[in-house]
Amino acid sequence: MRMTVLASGSKGNATVVASERTRVLVDAGLSCRELMKRMAIANEDPAALDAILITHEHTDHVAGLSVLARKLRIPVYFTEPTHRAWVRQMTPRTTMTYAKWLEHVQKEKEARAALAAQQAVESESDTTEPGAPSITASSSWIGDSATDLDLAAAADPDPEVEDSPVAATKRDPTFLPAVEYFQPGTNFTIGDLTIAPFTTPHDAADPCGFVFQSAAESIRMAIATDLGYLPPNVKSALKRIDVLLLESNHDLEMLKDGPYPWAVKQRVLSRVGHLSNLATAEFLARDYDGAAAYIVLGHLSEANNAPELALFSAEEALHDRGSLIGNRVLLAQQAAPLTPICL
Ligand SMILES: [Zn+2]
Ligand SMILES: [Zn+2]
Repeated sequence: MRMTVLASGSKGNATVVASERTRVLVDAGLSCRELMKRMAIANEDPAALDAILITHEHTDHVAGLSVLARKLRIPVYFTEPTHRAWVRQMTPRTTMTYAKWLEHVQKEKEARAALAAQQAVESESDTTEPGAPSITASSSWIGDSATDLDLAAAADPDPEVEDSPVAATKRDPTFLPAVEYFQPGTNFTIGDLTIAPFTTPHDAADPCGFVFQSAAESIRMAIATDLGYLPPNVKSALKRIDVLLLESNHDLEMLKDGPYPWAVKQRVLSRVGHLSNLATAEFLARDYDGAAAYIVLGHLSEANNAPELALFSAEEALHDRGSLIGNRVLLAQQAAPLTPICL
């Protein structure tokens, strides 16, 4: 298995997890362009991704989501409350009652069916006239040319087409090629990856972390960031993990003295905020089972943490448990991808 952290921190998060046959992207918190750039640097082929999984709807986890999903034409896995919160966030002027939400889901289904039908017609004509230039190829699927939907819609002046479900879809920034729902606490599979989502305490609609295990290997990898504290369900989810991406968000002193307004400091410190270096160290010293070959410290705050402080704090906690083997501590970066971790 392989984990490639493309970006981690308060300004954007994205990580590729791959088994022998399956590759998923967890969160898409940078622009599509930047995500593509990071994947190229890290030697991760975007075309080989099977799905995007979303932990929660905060911008540092979804900034590039719709453009990337449409470009790659891959499904997005959310919990239903997270999907709804994301749609609401993308359409701030619309009041999203539950009835409106159901209407949205239905419309999206119809738009997907219309797109699929249009594609089928196009691929039919492609096969009957192999030599003919395909004038519709680049507009057959949203985001195909990496441009925004608005451009695709604006380029089409025909009012009749404007009103078609396909044109309406192109204008809708929340349209995704396919959406799948999961529930925290219930395992699901994508290809040969088994995914165990677990609920995390954080101020979002339905936030979660993930444990990944491939069918062929007995390697387990976990992503646990955006946690106000470590409740028992998270501690038990993080047993027997070989590669653990764990939040180490802030240094308590730096946060207290730092630039954030008082209310934001309270939010970060709260039980639905983020894990401090100290909280992470306490977990590593007391509750952690010591099973990981690699512990990757992630979601570091640029304003309220220093990489050396997070590293020192975690290493010191592990050092006190002298008998541990493995447990190499790495620091995930905000500005560049980390070398892929392969086990
Ligand atoms: Zn968050
Ligand atoms: Zn975050």
